[in-house]
Amino acid sequence: MEAVILSIGDELVLGQTVDTNSAYLSAKLAERGIATRYHQTIEDDRGAIAEAIAHAAQLVPLMIITGGLGPTEDDLTRHALADAMGAELVEDAASLTAIRTMMERFGRKMAERNKVQALHPAGSTMIDNTCGTAPGIKATLGQTTVYVTPGVPREMVEMFALSIEPQLPTAGRVILTAKINTFGNGESNIAEMLGDLCDRDRNPLVGTTVTNGIVSARIRSVFDDADEARRQLNDTMAEVEAALGALAFGREDTTLQEALVKLLIEKNKTVAAAESCTGGLISKMFTDVPGSSAAVTGGWVTYTNGLKIQELGVRERSIVDHGAVSAEVASEMAAAALRRAGADAAVGVTGVAGPDGGTEDKPVGTVWIALAANDLPEPVARRFQLPGIRAAVRDRAAKCALQMIRLHLLGEPLGLIRWGKGKEESSDARE
Ligand code: AMP
Ligand code: MG
Repeated sequence: MEAVILSIGDELVLGQTVDTNSAYLSAKLAERGIATRYHQTIEDDRGAIAEAIAHAAQLVPLMIITGGLGPTEDDLTRHALADAMGAELVEDAASLTAIRTMMERFGRKMAERNKVQALHPAGSTMIDNTCGTAPGIKATLGQTTVYVTPGVPREMVEMFALSIEPQLPTAGRVILTAKINTFGNGESNIAEMLGDLCDRDRNPLVGTTVTNGIVSARIRSVFDDADEARRQLNDTMAEVEAALGALAFGREDTTLQEALVKLLIEKNKTVAAAESCTGGLISKMFTDVPGSSAAVTGGWVTYTNGLKIQELGVRERSIVDHGAVSAEVASEMAAAALRRAGADAAVGVTGVAGPDGGTEDKPVGTVWIALAANDLPEPVARRFQLPGIRAAVRDRAAKCALQMIRLHLLGEPLGLIRWGKGKEESSDARE
């Protein structure tokens, strides 16, 4: 069974409000084996809404619409539904009483324009709203059952749970999903590593998405039998993880820092960070993780050359000869952090976050990250060329540092991380 979800509102189309209702409803429908054919977001325009409703009714047996049921001029969903049905709007006496009672409970008199909320297309029925004034509507349009709920997420969730979900059929098949997260390669490289697993006619289906540099493999398993769906999902997850190797750091909502801190604790290791361009972001990420005190010693934010020299003992000569953004300075920062913190591993990060400060040799986005560790004879430094605005460069630099520590703990080559392909250099002769 397939469904269409329509969300209504100027604020959604303008980007002022993020449409969370559609995501919520799709996930809920998927649990019942109902696949969402598409989401559509429509401005508060009666004609456009009616057209979208009529179109979707040609395609699917189930439609859920959220938003536009309020009392104001721009709330036009009920009118549009009536248009699409070729029906008149009629007043529902019970709803009118319910709205009046609700308003009185809040110590307000029912305004004239609240009355519009008791209107519904002839032939449709009203759905109780237990936490707001606007009732929902259930209607039939050709072969399609249409549910309309208020846009306010809390009201939508409650109305869906109490009055819509219990009426939905179970579609006789189960959709299970999973997510495997990676950091260190672009989306196209990850897709290449996945190879045939990304074939579009495969079930479970595998696709990729990217959020803040984290590339995730998304898996969807659709089978009639729940056990089969679970087994197939698990098999594909294992195949995906095998294909992605150590770049994959966790499943579902696991963050890179959570994965790293967990690994550090498992291996009974500690870390420290000496940061310049990331300005403490790495330490923030470490300490975002509950329980990180078992693995994180602390760190330094040394922004000026003077503080790098004074607090970390970076040699002035290194800065003069190679510049503050260099393998030498990153390595000396990492080595000092390792020693001074008495940690098992440490990173030193120095780069040009922009928007100013770039040169031909070291354009904005140039970042040197060094890893020092007790089990390394000397620090290993890598150069990255990170794309994007200042915030993106800093975020990716911090994540590169975390992933470098993680790969080292796993005994994997740091060269697995490929950012700014072709422009990377490494001080590590062994790679
Ligand atoms: P409405 O029912 O259209 O009057 O919407 C009431 C409020 O709910 C809007 O001002 C939005 O803040 C919120 N809202 C409406 N639709 C959505 C949606 N699809 N996702 C998240 N919030 C929404
Ligand atoms: Mg609205």
